[in-house]
Amino acid sequence: MHLAFIETRSQAGISAPPVTVEVHLSAGLPAFQVVGVTDAASREIRSRVRSAIVSSHLKWPDFNITINLSPTEQIKQGARFDLPIAIGLLVASNQLPREAIENREFLGELSLDGSLRPSLGALSATLSATDAKHTLCVAPDGAAQLASVPGSRILAATDLLSLCAVLQAREPALVKPGSDPLAPIPNYPDLSQLRGQPFLCRALELAAAGGHHLLMCGPPGVGKTLAASVLPGLLPPLQPKTQQQIWLIRDLMGLPRVSGPTFRAPHHSSTIAALIGGTARATPGEISMAHGGVLFLDEVTEFPRAVLNQLRQPLESGEITVVRAQHQYRYPARFQLVAAMNPCPCGQADSEDGGCRCSPDIIRRYRQSVSGPLTDRIDLHVTLTKPPHEQLLSPPPERRLSAHLMQRIASVQAHQYGRQGCLNRDLSGERALAVCALSATTRARFIEALASLSLSARSAHRRLRVARTLADLDGIEDVSMAHLNTALSFRETPTEVGGVKG
Ligand SMILES: [Zn+2]
Repeated sequence: MHLAFIETRSQAGISAPPVTVEVHLSAGLPAFQVVGVTDAASREIRSRVRSAIVSSHLKWPDFNITINLSPTEQIKQGARFDLPIAIGLLVASNQLPREAIENREFLGELSLDGSLRPSLGALSATLSATDAKHTLCVAPDGAAQLASVPGSRILAATDLLSLCAVLQAREPALVKPGSDPLAPIPNYPDLSQLRGQPFLCRALELAAAGGHHLLMCGPPGVGKTLAASVLPGLLPPLQPKTQQQIWLIRDLMGLPRVSGPTFRAPHHSSTIAALIGGTARATPGEISMAHGGVLFLDEVTEFPRAVLNQLRQPLESGEITVVRAQHQYRYPARFQLVAAMNPCPCGQADSEDGGCRCSPDIIRRYRQSVSGPLTDRIDLHVTLTKPPHEQLLSPPPERRLSAHLMQRIASVQAHQYGRQGCLNRDLSGERALAVCALSATTRARFIEALASLSLSARSAHRRLRVARTLADLDGIEDVSMAHLNTALSFRETPTEVGGVKG
């Protein structure tokens, strides 16, 4: 019987569903056909696999060859099926014994000289193969990292002929886990570098502790970018599941692993596909690369409105659906948004030297360009002014603050998960009110304050969430009027009321 079945993995988002490569050799005129792909793709596969087999001094089977990738509805992108097809041909033509493929999966591209190249998304294939208790056969590049997945069994070889030898060995040597499987931790700037900005430091502490999104409004040079890049250094280490998800996403993009929260700062000229995900391969976008970390949108008013509107769904649900042809891939995208904007197009509107020449109408329109659904989801709004010059020139403090603060934030976050199963940022209005445990007097005074500031219900809920985080940082269960008053001070950005400071 000239038939062989080889197990491999497709790629759908960050998962790797199983695919069986069925190879059938029949009598008749020599031909080569891959069922379910276009003729052009079929010819490409034939050229690569044939050259690789012939270059490896193996025999190309002179039969009528039919190859089926099952299930047929799985997307069959890329050259990742080269290796399983080549192995299938060798087994079907009796050049490789059937025992060589038992409980083994194959993944990799072949170059014309028969050498093996790694495929993107090999990490998710490793996780799935490990769950199925299968050994995964791959290219040597990055194999040590794959072998560091607990319980995985990885075989690797530089080329097709060497792999055939490995497969027929009685006890083939598994790839050893990389000597340093721990990924490096990025070095973020310390909180102590933000000099003369106590209000901003407090906002960052709150943002980190409650997971709140943050909008900073201030003239150029006040340290908005620095503040944003301080934030990931304040966030506690990621949960193992989140860490694994971000590794899977980076693996799909061919990027190395990093430990802990990431920091992504896409430019405002980024396309929707780059930011949200998409392109021809339905790859993850910046918002997924920032999963578990910080997404910084500098000069947020410069981003096209259509791009900003696309952020609403992931901000609500923590994931994004990327559609490509008839397939939908879901990628995790639970990021913390930090946005920065100038007070007006020239950036000088709030400065004391009165250098701004923008008309009130232009300023209003500029500030409203980010208002609405996006700012509704941002709990912390901070208006910044330039710090006094003597503070900027003072010697830098010797004590590093971020690491110490991060420990406290970790315990505050753990307390929130214990109490309500999520961070304060993700509390709905009703739940926010419930967990704030306001006394009757505080509630009455808060309602009075809301009325005098003519704030909406959504606005009130945002302040409750921030007040809850303030009380959590104080280690207090009942939110007091003092907490609420401080929370009210974090909503002074003119975008909310569409007005202009006089
Ligand atoms: Zn201006």
